[in-house]
Amino acid sequence: MYPSRFRYEAPASLDEAIALLREGDGEAKVLAGGQSLVPLLKLRFASPELLVDINNLPGLGHHVEDPDGSIRIGALCRHRDLERSALLPARQPTMAAAAPLIADPIVRTRGTLVGSLCHADPQGDWASVVTSLGGHVVAQGTRGRRTIPVTDFVTGPFSNVLDVDEVAVEVVIPAPKGTPVGGYLKLERRVGDFATAGVAVALDLAGGRVARAGIGLTGVGGSTIDAREAADSLVGRPLDSAGIERAADLAAAAAQPQSDHRGSADYKRHVVHTFVTRLLTRVVDGQGGAGQDGAGQEMGAA
Ligand code: FAD
Repeated sequence: MYPSRFRYEAPASLDEAIALLREGDGEAKVLAGGQSLVPLLKLRFASPELLVDINNLPGLGHHVEDPDGSIRIGALCRHRDLERSALLPARQPTMAAAAPLIADPIVRTRGTLVGSLCHADPQGDWASVVTSLGGHVVAQGTRGRRTIPVTDFVTGPFSNVLDVDEVAVEVVIPAPKGTPVGGYLKLERRVGDFATAGVAVALDLAGGRVARAGIGLTGVGGSTIDAREAADSLVGRPLDSAGIERAADLAAAAAQPQSDHRGSADYKRHVVHTFVTRLLTRVVDGQGGAGQDGAGQEMGAA
């Protein structure tokens, strides 16, 4: 099927892009990597009157660490840039673990992390990762710039809080409160598939205790799940087997999976429990730290 007719603009500045979106008055869409939007256009699930292609905007391809230790990822930073990053394995193991597990190499060449958050697919991997890290989305529109916690940014499946004239310009991952450890595990039926279930764990360790914790769940609810109670149960204590079991129980209880062609609800809940246990156990075993293997693509039974 061909897309419906639309007007195409490729502005050279952010101000121009915002002005075009304002002009579009809700009938315009931003085009970033196009890896989610173009299939929707071709299926006519989306029929915008105007496409505002942001690929010519300068200064949005970055992923950098600021002097305070926070990491900023621009709207045109591709999945591939993050997969090949020299910064992430050294500074942010949960992100480094997830980057190679997004889709397939073709999609990773064009698709963006920021676009993935904006698309808000419940099976999008980055939203769980950014949730586990307590990240924020920075949006710019006619009324200026604002910063939105990712847990408030996604309002449900395929919806976010952006105003019609706002562009998400970057995502900010706050500076860790200790040594960042963690990882991402994703169960998929075959390489390149969306997650049957995925778990992101991000901990900051200081003085032998967990100073900060986040756990994000992919594909087991109407949108990304912030397993806050599970994460909070780890904070302020050393990581031990009793704490790991409690966190895994709480994360599995927070999942709201549906039975579908990828597996039964019970199976997906079991996968969440297994992955939380596995990721936290790796941390105890000295894996899952900066530069270490916190990644994993798991196929078949967990
Ligand atoms: P686009 O497709 O350009 O846009 C997506 C939506 O977000 C549109 O509504 C657009 O208007 C909006 N948008 C994008 N950027 C901005 C911005 N800066 N400001 C405001 N709005 C914006 N994802 C996974 O997480 N895991 C997978 O396993 C996976 N598998 C895939 C397999 C295939 C075959 C395909 C085609 C896609 C897959 N994806 C997967 C989705 C992929 O990660 C997309 O790249 C991502 O969801 C969207 O990023 P994009 O830059 O391509 O956004």
